Amino acid sequence: MEGFPASEGTHLVRALTQAIREEAQQLSDIDGLIGDGDHGVNMSKGFALAEEQLCDGQDVATALRTLGAVLMERIGGAMGPLYGSFFRAMARAARDRDVIDAATLSAMLHGALDKVRDVGGAEVGDKTLLDTLAPATEAFDRSIADGASLTSALAALQTAAEQGRDSTKDLVARLGRASRLGERSRGVIDAGAASCCLILCVLANTIGASLRGREEGERGAT
Ligand code: ADP
Ligand code: MG
Repeated sequence: MEGFPASEGTHLVRALTQAIREEAQQLSDIDGLIGDGDHGVNMSKGFALAEEQLCDGQDVATALRTLGAVLMERIGGAMGPLYGSFFRAMARAARDRDVIDAATLSAMLHGALDKVRDVGGAEVGDKTLLDTLAPATEAFDRSIADGASLTSALAALQTAAEQGRDSTKDLVARLGRASRLGERSRGVIDAGAASCCLILCVLANTIGASLRGREEGERGAT
């Protein structure tokens, strides 16, 4: 079945950590415009602590469970419980899978979405990471339902995540620190929507690169 080998969990979480580290300043700068400017730095600290606890060759469920637990316990702000639950829900949906195929990835996205809704009480339009996660999940599901390949569905996921992130620019924050600004929170994108877009794009790119690698390997072998 077309998919990402579940045995590559350590590689996946390392890729996420590297991307968050590279974008930490940018994410904090975005948060600084309507929040307190700690988002990227906090995320980067949490991901780095999780990376230290990884061992080579852990599967997706184990590596994401570690990431979720560390974020939950060790990062401050709104994001600890939100991204902690996000990654733990993804880990649960990936448990006992040998291959992260389209159905598993969809279950992982829905798991994260449901948990973020439960924990934070946000809906689409509140100017949070949900404005990235909800449309990206929907676009992925729609592509698969339309018969697209996993590669195309991952591209649709990325495009929708970017559009979702950008859609927060015109919104007024209804939750979290930025909501205190009311109308003045309009005009800049939301930091959580930006980090969520980064996370989903790294997920899609890592899975996509693995699919391409195997296709090329198979072509080389024939
Ligand atoms: P803090 O606001 O405590 O400094 P961060 O800067 O780490 O926390 O994260 C801010 C982000 O948290 C916001 O950009 C928004 O996306 C997200 N957020 C805040 N409150 C909620 C909530 N109730 N539900 C979902 N996301 C939220
Ligand atoms: Mg902040």
